[in-house]
Amino acid sequence: MKFSRAILFSLPCFLPFLVFGSGSLSRAEEQCSSRWLNIDVNAETAGFAAKRFCIPASWAIDQMDHCGFAIKEKLTVEVVEDLRHPFGMPVVGKSDSAEFRVQVASPSQCRQLARKEIALAEVDLHALYESIVVHEVIHAVLWQQLDHPQNESLSAIAAEYVAYAFQLLSLPEADRGNLLAAFPRAPPRDLGPFNYMALQLNPLRFAANAYRHLMSVDDRCEFLRKIVSGEVEFDDWDQYE
Ligand SMILES: [Zn+2]
Repeated sequence: MKFSRAILFSLPCFLPFLVFGSGSLSRAEEQCSSRWLNIDVNAETAGFAAKRFCIPASWAIDQMDHCGFAIKEKLTVEVVEDLRHPFGMPVVGKSDSAEFRVQVASPSQCRQLARKEIALAEVDLHALYESIVVHEVIHAVLWQQLDHPQNESLSAIAAEYVAYAFQLLSLPEADRGNLLAAFPRAPPRDLGPFNYMALQLNPLRFAANAYRHLMSVDDRCEFLRKIVSGEVEFDDWDQYE
């Protein structure tokens, strides 16, 4: 599957444990101070200040901008109570390239999920939630780069590699260390571990591998440019479909 697919969903390994509540919805909109962001809160945020969505989203945009991947229009980050895949599966995040919008489930729902994951036992839940925002915003920024004529279509696995690597980079060092400790290993020497099966079997292990690999690269921006241009090739799940 090439990256031209319009909508991408985050399917964390703790999804099977998801139980969504039926709490009342509240509608509020809050403008972010960033000129590139619009924050749209359409869910109970359980004490998670709406402005806090700006911080991880802006961080993700800045990280990509630092490597020359700027966005050209305002991105909407929407928080929703019940976020689902078209097939009905609950998801924690979703990125829609057509509308240049990302959606994340509410903090309380993500918290419910994280409590079931042993690898996340020592990860601060607010930090984890912010990192999900980072993941989805990275997807959105990557997508927009594909408008450039020099950029090839990007495999979904490549997009997940970048999104997960930055998601873990965004975590506080102690939380990231606790997550990485659940998957002890040296940085991967090549892109072999980044394939569809590995992603499906254990997204958190995939994330740890992505972070370790990207951090081991001498020039991360150059490596990202090669990913986006298609010079660095990842597995593609066309071959699995
Ligand atoms: Zn993703």
